[in-house]
Amino acid sequence: MRTIEHWIDGATTRAGSTRTAPVWNPATGQQQAEVLLAEPSDVDLAVAAAAKAFESWSQTSLTRRTKVLFAFRELVTRHARELAEIIADEHGKVVSDALGEVQRGIEVIEFACGIPHLLKGEYSDQVSTGVDVYGFREPLGVVAGITPFNFPVMVPMWMHPVAIACGNAFVLKPSERDPSASQLVARLWAEAGLPDGVFSVVNGDKSAVDALLDHPDVAAVSFVGSTPIAKYIHQRASANGKRVQALGGAKNHAVVLPDADLDFASDHLIAAAMGSAGERCMAISAAVAVGAGADRLVEAVAAKAAAVRVGPGRDEASEMGPVVTAAARDRITGYIDGGERQGAEVTVDGRGLVVPGHEDGFFVGPTVLDHVTPSMDVYRDEIFGPVLSVVRADDVDAAIALINANPYGNGTAIFTGSGEAARRFQRGVKVGMIGINVPIPVPMAYYSFGGWKDSLFGQSHVHGPEGIAFYTRAKVVTSRWPRVDHAVAASYSFPTTT
Ligand code: NAD
Repeated sequence: MRTIEHWIDGATTRAGSTRTAPVWNPATGQQQAEVLLAEPSDVDLAVAAAAKAFESWSQTSLTRRTKVLFAFRELVTRHARELAEIIADEHGKVVSDALGEVQRGIEVIEFACGIPHLLKGEYSDQVSTGVDVYGFREPLGVVAGITPFNFPVMVPMWMHPVAIACGNAFVLKPSERDPSASQLVARLWAEAGLPDGVFSVVNGDKSAVDALLDHPDVAAVSFVGSTPIAKYIHQRASANGKRVQALGGAKNHAVVLPDADLDFASDHLIAAAMGSAGERCMAISAAVAVGAGADRLVEAVAAKAAAVRVGPGRDEASEMGPVVTAAARDRITGYIDGGERQGAEVTVDGRGLVVPGHEDGFFVGPTVLDHVTPSMDVYRDEIFGPVLSVVRADDVDAAIALINANPYGNGTAIFTGSGEAARRFQRGVKVGMIGINVPIPVPMAYYSFGGWKDSLFGQSHVHGPEGIAFYTRAKVVTSRWPRVDHAVAASYSFPTTT
């Protein structure tokens, strides 16, 4: 059995870890590896190495740091396929989708390659007679990232290229469910010329996370995961005086107005609901069918859901892979059972799907539930599976009110041909990321990503300008150089001591 170790101070190590967790292949249902679970003393080792590396990395010139980032960008690009296959094998998503994830990660590295420009300061000349004021930003020190299973490459890359470009040392605690990609990423950083200790990976569970949250030498914590854990991370790390950004779960609605192109909207709805088996924080899990035409929308969506090709992530014919674990599969099918009990109509049923040759895989087929109401558990909870709930609303204002009554505020989308309705929607919804005829509006790397309400705890979104601000702190200098008369003239005579 392969054992996935930690990456500390530029090398793989078991450190003092003895506990392990299984790593599954969701397509076969077989255990393929075990991952070490760090003890607090292992976290101490990683943080100590990071603190030491920070001393010189933070003093390394912008030119040198940028060279490392460009080299890292080239290496990740060259290993994109390998990374995507590792993701497919441990997460379950199809390789083409995993390649998309790697590409979105590369875009954050590309953003971070612009760090000399991004860290330019400000200068105000002559704010008072003979006085100038200028500001610049410095890195924080050792910063930690704690990340979810659903994007094992992209979500950590929302964080570490930016943090490292700013001059910090970064300790990553990836999801224990798909930890292998982070080991390759660590090797690529080293190959790119990043000094030992600037990027470390500590595998583990709650013990490792708590050790990071309590460690006096960790200055800031970036977290992405479910809402209850995001809340916990924010509270505990804040109580310890750290800077925290904690992105939580989601329930993303897509509103379809009667004037929308039905074929376009239903195509995009199904791709956004079923892609990656619904295990995306920006997945569409609730379709809001507005006004007359709801039945036609359900019909179109159901036909497309039923046609999705489900199979192993490595099979190029697959459009959707399995979910991450047997527990996830059972949780999702439990929600479908509950929805049916509470009165939803199961229009397309993904329960009990068997993929020939992969009978033990963790598969759930695309599922569409119609006539869902806001009181049902399938509507209230984040299912994180290939389940689309259709709710109905009378008009666009009712759809906006429905979205705003939901505790989450990560992403939302509207399908319409009306600019007026789209504008009313974008101004009315209390949601961080909005798509207009775009179902998954993930901002480009040079904007910042983040939700509102229970989808984010802390003030800062990730990457883009807010990422730079999060991983640095400002200094402002007020300076005066009083006039002195430089009375001593240069002389061609041999200098004497008089
Ligand atoms: P999770 O909250 O279970 O785990 C996230 C991380 O927290 C993992 O590294 C895990 O080891 C750690 N963790 C889990 N339980 C913990 C505990 N009790 N104490 C301390 N640490 C703990 O999330 P997940 O299942 O890996 O990922 C799916 C969730 O992430 C979904 O809710 C999804 O919406 C969310 N997510 C959000 C975004 C976003 O941008 N808002 C992006 C991706 C995923």
